Amino acid sequence: MDCLFCKIIAGEIPSKKAYEDELVYAFHDIDPQAPVHILIIPKEHIKSADEITAENSAVVAHIFEVAAKLAKENNLSADGYRIVTNIGEAGGQTVKHLHFHLMGGRNFTWPAG
Ligand code: 5GP
Ligand code: ZN
Repeated sequence: MDCLFCKIIAGEIPSKKAYEDELVYAFHDIDPQAPVHILIIPKEHIKSADEITAENSAVVAHIFEVAAKLAKENNLSADGYRIVTNIGEAGGQTVKHLHFHLMGGRNFTWPAG
């Protein structure tokens, strides 16, 4: 499949790994928008959060478990941080493989742009 993040998981495109297990891969964003900007993705190709079903939703719980662990490792927990997933064109999703942005190390504004 012609998917950038599937190629990153396969090691065909290099990335800076933050965490890996049998279900998920986490790596540093190539264009960080915060001092810490890690992408956490399922190894299974899921297009976006809009494709979550009863069959594949368990990996999302696992991703949030990994996110909390990475937040602690990066000393983000005391100040707080943000987890974002963009969905489709209006949501600003550019890579069509489900990913959660774990961002921290600065203050964020709300509402999102
Ligand atoms: P989206 O806009 O789809 O929510 O997020 C895609 C993210 O992937 C962007 O933050 C972008 O910087 C990141 N990205 C795109 N291509 C690459 C790449 O080849 N390597 C890494 N590490 N990040 C990438
Ligand atoms: Zn993919």
